[in-house]
Amino acid sequence: MTFPVTRLRRLRRTETLRAFVRETRLTPEGFIYPMFICPGERVRKEISSMPNVFNLSVDEAVREAREVKTLGIPAVVLFSLPEAKDEIATGAWAENGIVQQATRALKREVPGLLVIGDVCLCEYMSHGHCGIVKKAPMPVSSGSAGRGDGSAAAAAAAIDYEIENDSTLEILARTAVSQARAGMDIIAPSDMMDGRVAAIRKALDENGFSHIPILSYAAKFASGFYGPFREAADSAPQFGDRRSYQMDPANLREALREMETDLDEGADMLMVKPALPYLDVIHAARERFDIPIAAYQVSGEYAMIEAAARNGWIDRERIMLESLTSIQRAGASIILTYFAKDVARLLG
Ligand SMILES: [Zn+2]
Repeated sequence: MTFPVTRLRRLRRTETLRAFVRETRLTPEGFIYPMFICPGERVRKEISSMPNVFNLSVDEAVREAREVKTLGIPAVVLFSLPEAKDEIATGAWAENGIVQQATRALKREVPGLLVIGDVCLCEYMSHGHCGIVKKAPMPVSSGSAGRGDGSAAAAAAAIDYEIENDSTLEILARTAVSQARAGMDIIAPSDMMDGRVAAIRKALDENGFSHIPILSYAAKFASGFYGPFREAADSAPQFGDRRSYQMDPANLREALREMETDLDEGADMLMVKPALPYLDVIHAARERFDIPIAAYQVSGEYAMIEAAARNGWIDRERIMLESLTSIQRAGASIILTYFAKDVARLLG
């Protein structure tokens, strides 16, 4: 049937009609609100590149989480700014670590709110990498046919450290168990080491936490969109970058392999991060896997929208809703977003 019998505009005439036939309905029920926990009391420090997002001490986090819950948002995910950092991420699994303290307070003061633990080591490592750093032995250049030239030195400098996979798994597992002990409802590993989901699943099960689900940051890309977060969590690597463990932005098929692997290792939910530049990955994941798919609208996505809105170049509210609707339409039923509270207020 074609024009003039078919007229697609018939269903667009009024807002009531448009709402009636809407395919994607944005609701806060699948939102996760990210929070950055810092030491101290009554601390509420705005992150300069992320307007309206704060570093919060535990008491302030409780206040914020109450508001989150009241707005109908079911979950928060916790990141932390620990007091001290070292080369074995002690703060990540310390019984009285910041995240563990915040978890206990939130579970006590805000009943019913899901508290999700981001499990990674970068925030607790003095070097800012997500795993144990091993310095590789310096290559022998002198005496080798007299070719100790600049290019060889540059090549050596580029690979003079290694992020150790297998020794990192042990610390990640210890961190997950420590978070579960503090009362965490869901464990969300974000480090991108191979085998971490299996290691965490095994450790949780062995310690009486077989009921705690894993939300895996399965396809986490080495992205420029993480910039503002690194200020928020003070977690920028001190040398090198994260390309040897986070994914190449060019690869979709590899992203599906990452997700398949995590699923086989026991992940209950899979995440794609960032969101808007990777809608095709979200969509492919939705088509391929029959488990909940999450997407993280990351700090850079948030900061771009906020900055353009501040300049009067875009309509903030409209773009906020449009970007989140697109992420949901692509296939994510769970969305981590710094806009969670604003959207919940708008839709409420
Ligand atoms: Zn990390």
